[in-house]
Amino acid sequence: MRCRWIAAPLALLLCALANLGVADEPKPAEAPKLAAESPKLKVLIVDGQNNHDWRKTTPVMKHALESCGRFQVDVSTAPSGGDLSSFQPKFSNYDAVLSNYNGGSWSPQTRQSLVDYVHGGGGFVVVHAADNSFPDWPEYNEMTGLGGWGGRNEKSGPYVYYKDGKQVEDKSRGGGGSHGPQHPFQIVVRDPAHPITKDMPITWMHGQDELYTHLRGPAHNMKVLATAYAPKKLNGRDVDEPMLMVLDYGKGRVFHTPMGHADYSMKCAGFTTALQRGTEWAATGKVTIPIPADFPTADKVSNRKP
Ligand code: ZN
Repeated sequence: MRCRWIAAPLALLLCALANLGVADEPKPAEAPKLAAESPKLKVLIVDGQNNHDWRKTTPVMKHALESCGRFQVDVSTAPSGGDLSSFQPKFSNYDAVLSNYNGGSWSPQTRQSLVDYVHGGGGFVVVHAADNSFPDWPEYNEMTGLGGWGGRNEKSGPYVYYKDGKQVEDKSRGGGGSHGPQHPFQIVVRDPAHPITKDMPITWMHGQDELYTHLRGPAHNMKVLATAYAPKKLNGRDVDEPMLMVLDYGKGRVFHTPMGHADYSMKCAGFTTALQRGTEWAATGKVTIPIPADFPTADKVSNRKP
């Protein structure tokens, strides 16, 4: 009520009427629920085969997600080789599925189950070498948007990168996937309006990691949220490579980051925050997780303790 701006007798009358519910102001919209008050989102991490140390990185990502109070995480580990027909995760029991898998082909049933899950509205999160996996599975490449290695080439889709501040889709011939020596590198937010990147510093330093370059793929319904510059002297091509991407696949949402080579790369508070917010967005289409006080700055890496 703003009674104090009205002459006293009239104000008293209006206030009295208001208290009777006659001249009440519209009720304010219900405040958004804080993350901690909402039911936990269920996330499934899939691993078991990867040319990276998934035994070390899966626990780091599980902790990164659970430590913010928004997620409850299960892990489904595929057999290390041979017949994978017994690997049948129940994707549909989860709000989001996070792939830390780069390995042998799943059974047709399991592949179709992931396609149906994401297409039907499930959230999918792709981290680092998960985008190397399944070069010959068209739907998987539609979901990830971009990938590397595994024989990928111009038939897989264009190279996608930023040059001179603009997104480029480069159809030139060549293999997909490369990286130089590991180093800390600066992330540049290209879409500060997206829920995942909203309120992030426009530039922030990511800790020691591989900077994936030359990724290529269908890139349909894909939006690049952030990039990192890969100079030629570090095996790059003097362009800004995509580092945070989102895609729509059917009714589902996909969050893809090629960051996260090793457990130490994932201890970056920037990676952790992007993973949390990206997973929440993939699961719900919204982000309630705030940017933390220890988020890296434009020139300073911020690593969390194990
Ligand atoms: Zn790697």
